[in-house]
Amino acid sequence: MVTNTDVLIEIKGLRTHFFSREGTLKALEDVNFRVHRREILGVIGESGCGKSVTAQSIMRIVPANGRIVAGEILLHRDDGVLDLAKLDPRGREIRAIRGAEISMVFQEPMTSFSPVYSVGNQIMEVVQLHQECGKEEARARTIEMLRRVGMPKAEQQVDAYPFTLSGGMRQRAMIAMALSCQPNLLIADEPTSAVDVTIQAQILELLADLQREMHMSIMMITHDLGVVAESSDNLLIMYLGRNVEYGPTETLFYEPKHPYTQGLLSSIPKLGMLGNRDLEPITGAVPSLYEIPDGCAFHPRCPHFMKGVCDAKVPPLTDLDATHTVRCWLYTDESTRGGAE
Ligand code: SF4
Repeated sequence: MVTNTDVLIEIKGLRTHFFSREGTLKALEDVNFRVHRREILGVIGESGCGKSVTAQSIMRIVPANGRIVAGEILLHRDDGVLDLAKLDPRGREIRAIRGAEISMVFQEPMTSFSPVYSVGNQIMEVVQLHQECGKEEARARTIEMLRRVGMPKAEQQVDAYPFTLSGGMRQRAMIAMALSCQPNLLIADEPTSAVDVTIQAQILELLADLQREMHMSIMMITHDLGVVAESSDNLLIMYLGRNVEYGPTETLFYEPKHPYTQGLLSSIPKLGMLGNRDLEPITGAVPSLYEIPDGCAFHPRCPHFMKGVCDAKVPPLTDLDATHTVRCWLYTDESTRGGAE
């Protein structure tokens, strides 16, 4: 049974928009979910669904032409609750939180590391910024962290430049940097999509081991359900800027309710399947964020589309039980399915 003290971060009605000459791009329109303490939450969706913008919004690193226009990002601490959405993205408070309480691992480590400093120097800088310690102590902690992420010859590799390391080792070094201050929440945005399958399995195992060892929470963002199938406790499915289904991983794998989740599951191969006989890809493509369909944004691709209902109003979130939520008109009371808004 999950209580409120188990909640680490709570996202309520989050809307993040980008403004350009072409118009307003509504990357997040209504995102709601919780990350509990010591859980791995898998955040799934096709590209353009808003997974990465959700992460950027939590870290308050949304690119300059974007802005959080509504909603709350509540960080639950022992001494109270802080709304990160209200903080100045360049202010001292959020800078103290980034790296120390919430950290991020990106798809491509070279976006985080500068090529002109050694990985050790860059990790030491983070350690010294957030923890009161001298240079020698910071170096010792950096070497220890590199060892914990499985970097061979950590005492030597601490002085290596990022471009001299293999893709898998660079990713390990970035995980070491992200975890150097023992954050409560690690956001991993497609952490394995730039490495091959063997390294991918090692990195995922490493993250799961470190999560248990350091008692932290992980938000694992991916387009690939297979990446989170084994390791995550709960799954959040996103589609065009909205959360459409949330629940325990096992429930979503065996009893998915939202037609989009069902479509994602039927489009991945399963053990025992012959060839690609039973694979059923979701029809159509994700529409542009400049042309989000009215009503349920999934309706042009949905096999259960109900004319006059699904294309009229955005479905509300329905609690199927204490742990399982879905956003679809199929699971609402018929009396709530009115006409257009
Ligand atoms: Fe399909 Fe309608 Fe449910 Fe959207 S609301 S997923 S279109 S049945």
